[in-house]
Amino acid sequence: MYSCGPTVYNFQHIGNFRAFIVADMLKRVLLHGGYKVKHVMNITDVGHLVGDANLGEDKIRVTAQHEHKTAHEVAKFYTDDFLEDIKALGIMMPEIMPKATDHVREMLDLIAILDKKGFLYNVSTGVYFDTSKVKDYGRLMNLSFEKLNSFLITGARVERAQGIKNTTDFAVWRFSRPDQMEMVWETKYGKGFPGWHIECSAMSMKYLGQHFDIHTGGVDHLPIHHTNEIAQSESATGKKFVNYWVHNEFLLVDGKKMSKSIGNVYTPKDLQKKGYSAGAYKYLMVSAHYRTQLNFTFQALDNSKNTLEGVYSFMKRLASIQYPEKESKMNKSFIANVAKIRDKFFEHMNDDLDTPLALAQMHALISTANKLGKDITKDDANLVIETLLEFDKVLGLGFEEHTKHSNHPDEIMKLVEERESYRKKRMFADADRIRDLLKEEHGVDVEDSQNGPVIHKLG
Ligand code: AMP
Ligand code: ZN
Repeated sequence: MYSCGPTVYNFQHIGNFRAFIVADMLKRVLLHGGYKVKHVMNITDVGHLVGDANLGEDKIRVTAQHEHKTAHEVAKFYTDDFLEDIKALGIMMPEIMPKATDHVREMLDLIAILDKKGFLYNVSTGVYFDTSKVKDYGRLMNLSFEKLNSFLITGARVERAQGIKNTTDFAVWRFSRPDQMEMVWETKYGKGFPGWHIECSAMSMKYLGQHFDIHTGGVDHLPIHHTNEIAQSESATGKKFVNYWVHNEFLLVDGKKMSKSIGNVYTPKDLQKKGYSAGAYKYLMVSAHYRTQLNFTFQALDNSKNTLEGVYSFMKRLASIQYPEKESKMNKSFIANVAKIRDKFFEHMNDDLDTPLALAQMHALISTANKLGKDITKDDANLVIETLLEFDKVLGLGFEEHTKHSNHPDEIMKLVEERESYRKKRMFADADRIRDLLKEEHGVDVEDSQNGPVIHKLG
C-alpha cells in the first residue's frame, strides 16, 4: 500500500491528517483481517510546485527563501514535525518512508524508459510527458482524454506551460534556473529537478513492485497527480499499476477546503494548545465517512471531545469494578449480545471503512453494558473492555491507557455505581442523595454523559 505523503514545506494541517488517518485506518482494518501490509508513505521534499500542477515555484524553495534556510533545512524541520504529529495521533509508522531527494536515480531510470518508448518531448522549461499517447488517459476520472483536457481548461485547474502540446501534459523533469543551486541534479536531460508525479511512480514501484494493491491520497489528486502516476507507470512497464485507489474527501472550513493557500488551517499542535487532545480530533475524523466532506467547527470538536471523554470514563469505571465476592451474573444473552455487536462493528469497518456505523455499534455496546447497572460483574466488565480494545485496534483512539484501574478509590466507585442503579430505576431522589454525599464527603461530583457517569474532582 502506497500513500502520497506530506510535502514538507510547512506544518501539516488537520486536513492533511485526514488523509493519513484514513490510510492508517485502512491498514489497521487489513491487519485485523489477517492481511500482511507493507505500507510506503513518501516524503515530498522537492518538486511539488506552488499554485497548480504545472507552473510556479517549488514549494520547498519558496519557504527556504522566506525563512532564510536551506531547502534541506526546511525539509528536515517539517519532516521532524510531521513525524512528531504522526506519533501523537496514534498513526502507525509506515514501514518505509522514502524521501524524494534520495530517489532521483530511480526517477531518472523511469524517465529513461519513457524517453526510449517515445513518450517525452522537450520544451524550454523541462521534459514533458505527451499524454495524448496514452490510450486510456483519464481513466481514473472516468473521462476521455478530450473530456479531461477540456475539464481542466474550463475548471482552470492547469495553466498551460509554454510550448506544451496538450493541457494535460506534465513535466517529468524541470530545468532549474541558474540562481537555483540547491536540490538540482546534473543529468543528460539537463540540469534540474524531478516533477512531482514521477516521484511517486518511482518510489512506489521501487518498494512495492510494478503492480501493487492499494494507493491512497486526497480527492484533489484524482484529476492530475494520480492520473499522471498511472499514465507514466503503465506506459513504462506495460502493466497495470494499482488495483485499488482510495481517496479521502476534504476537511472543510466554512464550506471551503482547509488548505495552506487559503490560510484557514489548524495544525494538531494548534488544537492541543486550545486544550483538545489528539484523540478528540481523531474521533471527529472517524465520526464521518472518509468519502464525505466534513466541515470543521469547534462546536463539532467539542462534541467529539465530550463523547470521547465519556467513553474513557466509562472504561475507567468498568476497569474499577471489583466484586470477586459476587457470583458472575454473566449470562448467555449478554455474551451473545456483545458478540453480535462486535461482529457488526467489524462488518461496518470492513465495508469500505464505514466508521459512522461502526461507532454506532461501539455506543450500542456501552449502553448494553450500562443497562446491567449495578448488577454488572467483573467478568461482564472485562468482556466489554476486551471488546472495546479490539475496536481500538482499528480506531486507534488510545483506549488502552483508560482501561487501567480508576484513580478513584473503590468507595467512591461503589457509590457511583449505586447512584447509577437508582437513576436507571428512575429513583432520582436517592440518586441525588448519593450525589450530595459524594460531593460533601468525597469531594467529587458526578456528571451524566450519554456514555454513563463522569467523575470530576471538586475544588
Ligand atoms: P500535501 O502535503 O499538500 O501534498 O497533502 C498531503 C495529503 O493531504 C494529500 O493526500 C492531500 O490530498 C491531502 N489533503 C490536503 N488538504 C486536505 C483537506 N483539506 N482535507 C483532506 N485531505 C487533504
Ligand atoms: Zn503522490
